[in-house]
This record gives sequence, C-alpha cells and structure tokens, in this order.
Amino acid sequence: MLSRDEVFDELGIGPAWRLREAAPATPLTTPNSPLTTWDALAEAVSHCTACKLHSTRTHGVLGVGDRNADWLIIGEAPGADEDAQGEPFVGQAGKLLDAMLAAIDLKRGNKVYITNVLKSRPPGNRNPEPDEVAACRPYLLAQIELIQPKLILALGRFAAQSLLDTDEAVGRLRGRVHRFQNVPLVVTYHPAYLLRNLPDKARAWEDLCLARRTMATL
Ligand code: URA
Repeated sequence: MLSRDEVFDELGIGPAWRLREAAPATPLTTPNSPLTTWDALAEAVSHCTACKLHSTRTHGVLGVGDRNADWLIIGEAPGADEDAQGEPFVGQAGKLLDAMLAAIDLKRGNKVYITNVLKSRPPGNRNPEPDEVAACRPYLLAQIELIQPKLILALGRFAAQSLLDTDEAVGRLRGRVHRFQNVPLVVTYHPAYLLRNLPDKARAWEDLCLARRTMATL
C-alpha cells in the first residue's frame, strides 16, 4: 500500500505546505563558528545537533566533489548507504546519478559538487520535516557561498520545492531555468524516482540538455 506521501507523489501534489508549517526561525543549536571555511562547515555538520535527526544519524553528510565546482547538484537527504558511508548518492540512486552526469560528460568530483538539502538521514527515509529543513539551511547557503557554482541542478520534488519555495510538481517546474540565490537552477527528476519510472528518463535527458545548454551560456 502506498504511503500518504507516495500518493501525493503519484498525484504530483507537493509538500511545500509542510515546509512552510511550523519551521522555527532559528535552529535549536546554531553553529558556533561562522561557516566561512570548509573546515568550519565540515566540523559543524559532523557535530550538528540543530534538529532531532542528530540522534538517529550515523554521519552528518556534508557533500562530495570539487569545491570550486561549476555544477552544484542538490538532492533530498542521505539514505541508509549515505548515512553509513558519510557521502551523498552512493547507493543505487547514486549509480544512476553518475550515469546521468556521464551522459553530459560530467564526473562526480570534476567541476561537480553533490550535496543534499538535509545533511542527516531522516529515519526510515521519511520525508524531511520543516524544522529539519530550516535547521540545515545555513549549511546549504554556506556551501553555495563557498563554491559559487554557476548552475544548480535540483534533483526531485523535495529539493526543487524547498529551494524554490513552491508546491508545484516537478513536472511543472522542469523545462525552464529558475534562480536560487541568483544562481540559475534547473529541476529534474530524482534518480530514485527514475529507477521506478523509466519512461521519465527521456524527460530527465531533456532536463540535462537544458542544464548543459544553460551552462554553455554562463
Ligand atoms: N537520495 C538523495 O536525495 N540523496 C542521497 O544522498 C541519496 C539518495
């Protein structure tokens, strides 16, 4: 039986209403040092207690790749494999992501940095909650500040909706260039979704081509 969120997924109904609900203005425990260096950021994420996920995670997963990347790829949250290994997108979805990147001549670590909206795994891979997104936001903003990417690729409903503060479905957000913090942002399907919905791979390919074309103009 499908869960409520899977039903929303199927219907293309986004959860942005939940992201706007009850999010505290500041994390429970804000990072002590300013997040202006990679060392400070890595330290803060690995010891972060700003939301309840710290009590169930194994590793805070900051991100992986080229710290001077042109491409910033943003997914949802670490899953079980990522939580265990401390690196984003290392499971099946990660293999597909690597193949998607290879299709546009990109490689993890070379001009590409990969991270998630949440740095800690939600138990049982449940959807991120508004307070968790709010608590993690300073880390994502600090990463963007440090990397200064030319383009952001948002993977899936959750990343797209939370970055763009909308509840529009991925199907409606893809196909055009948005902006986040003034950085061009292209939306495509999450690789985990594509593993279950093969026909949408063709659309994901179009999105990657749009992202590549956009990058060529930057
Ligand atoms: N799904 C995500 O959104 N991020 C990961 O790191 C792994 C799976």
